[in-house]
Amino acid sequence: MIQEGKARLHIQIPSIVSSRMPVFYNPHMVINRDMSLLVVLASVGEGAIICDPMGASGIRGIRFLLEAGAKKVIYNDINPMAVEEFKRLIKINCVDESKVEIYSEDASLLLRKLRGFDYVDIDPFGSPVDFLESAILSVKRGGLLGVSATDTAVLSGTYPTTCIRRYGSKPLLEAEFYHEVGIRILIKKVVEEGAKLDCALTPVFCYSYRHHFKVFLRKDIGARRADQLMRDIGYIVYCSKCLYRKALKCEGMINICPICGNELLYAGPLWIGKLWNEELITGMQKPKDRLILSKETIKLLSKVQQEATKQTVGFYTLSAIGEKLRIGSFPNLEKFLPLIEGVRTHFTGEGFRTTLSHSELLKRL
Ligand code: SAM
Repeated sequence: MIQEGKARLHIQIPSIVSSRMPVFYNPHMVINRDMSLLVVLASVGEGAIICDPMGASGIRGIRFLLEAGAKKVIYNDINPMAVEEFKRLIKINCVDESKVEIYSEDASLLLRKLRGFDYVDIDPFGSPVDFLESAILSVKRGGLLGVSATDTAVLSGTYPTTCIRRYGSKPLLEAEFYHEVGIRILIKKVVEEGAKLDCALTPVFCYSYRHHFKVFLRKDIGARRADQLMRDIGYIVYCSKCLYRKALKCEGMINICPICGNELLYAGPLWIGKLWNEELITGMQKPKDRLILSKETIKLLSKVQQEATKQTVGFYTLSAIGEKLRIGSFPNLEKFLPLIEGVRTHFTGEGFRTTLSHSELLKRL
């Protein structure tokens, strides 16, 4: 018997978790489920109507009912074995069946039929791109969309051609913040898909953990709001020699580094606006009696909360500074941060953000 939050499951977990499991359940994704409960509670509150169109075991939906006071959960999975597992889970966890609706069809088709959700969680194997349009349509105004992506190698630049084809953007593996570039490309894709439909999907929270990215966006409706949001889509230029970086709009693009004269690399188009809504994070940190969170979730949330106080585009790492700028001896990061007015990033343990300009940072190294 496995316990996650307040929910119990009977699934056998093989030594290697894979999409070939009869019914998929990944214990490491507890962070993904915890964060979805936290974001919805802090944003929509109790009484939310949740759609879990790729529910697998259905653990997320069960937890929404047991821990987050959801009013209703619409569960769906194309795999009939998953549906049977979910029905067992309802019984084992003594869930009120009147609060659950069960479907077994293609998620996109279902989302096109059903509308008005407070929260829709898109959690496929690999890329979420196929499901974005129907998911955006199914979220109600003021509601939230949660999008997971496990094709992080594509988004982060290991397969740039695939990224350009799938997401319409160039990644940047050469930069130390290549994972952040990946998340910004994913956000751009959702914002762009929303804008096509005259919807404004504003990112409110995101993180990278192990093999997945997760982004949460709040939906508003209206062409003008969508146009406003599109203004935060642009490019990042980056110098692989002196680590200069800058977020730019297409019309302001430069290709020579103003610090060292080297030719600049670029990533984009991508989201160059804020990654986190600080007010939401404060709400996520308020204690919630009914929620049982994993230690990893609490740790990750506190890292992101620190990081969100300096929302720069891109961050630095000690190893990139050492290697590219040939500065070898650093105090440890904790002692170094006050010197450069920096905060840690959750993307990597040796990374930091600073709002100092690049040339000012170079002076302080
Ligand atoms: N959300 C689940 C959780 O938190 O445990 C994990 C979801 S798992 C990564 C992806 C699930 O999507 C699988 O159970 C799979 O059967 C289902 N799936 C794949 N393609 C689908 C589709 N087109 N429509 C509906 N479900 C689909």
